[in-house]
Amino acid sequence: MRSEPEAQLRAASLRVTRPRLAVLAVLAEHKHVDTETVISLVRAELPTVSHQAVYDVLHALTSARLIRRIQPSGANARYESRIGDNHHHVVCRSCGAIADVDCAVGHAPCLTASNDHGFEVDEAEVVYWGTCPDCAA
Ligand SMILES: [Zn+2]
Ligand SMILES: [Zn+2]
Ligand SMILES: [Zn+2]
Repeated sequence: MRSEPEAQLRAASLRVTRPRLAVLAVLAEHKHVDTETVISLVRAELPTVSHQAVYDVLHALTSARLIRRIQPSGANARYESRIGDNHHHVVCRSCGAIADVDCAVGHAPCLTASNDHGFEVDEAEVVYWGTCPDCAA
């Protein structure tokens, strides 16, 4: 189960600040949100927080692996708080809608490289591309 945001920050050796708590709260409620959306949702709660402060929080939380940054090619970066389960994403080529896809294997890397060139491979980046039901209709 998800631990409390304060405990998450402390476990990652990050100072507990209102902007960090606000970003974690936004991402607990919203999946795959882009930076602009995070900023506007955070500022609805904390109107004095600057854009730069939100960028800094997103960067710090991503580095601490409390949140995950995904960036399908050609799309804006999105953030989510579902971490650590190696799930993948299906992206609509037409409107950019994103949905979670559980990893069929459950751990990284879930694809075996036909030739690993001696590398210790620890992750395969999997993105499914297609057309969402709304765009297909
Ligand atoms: Zn679509
Ligand atoms: Zn996701
Ligand atoms: Zn997988």
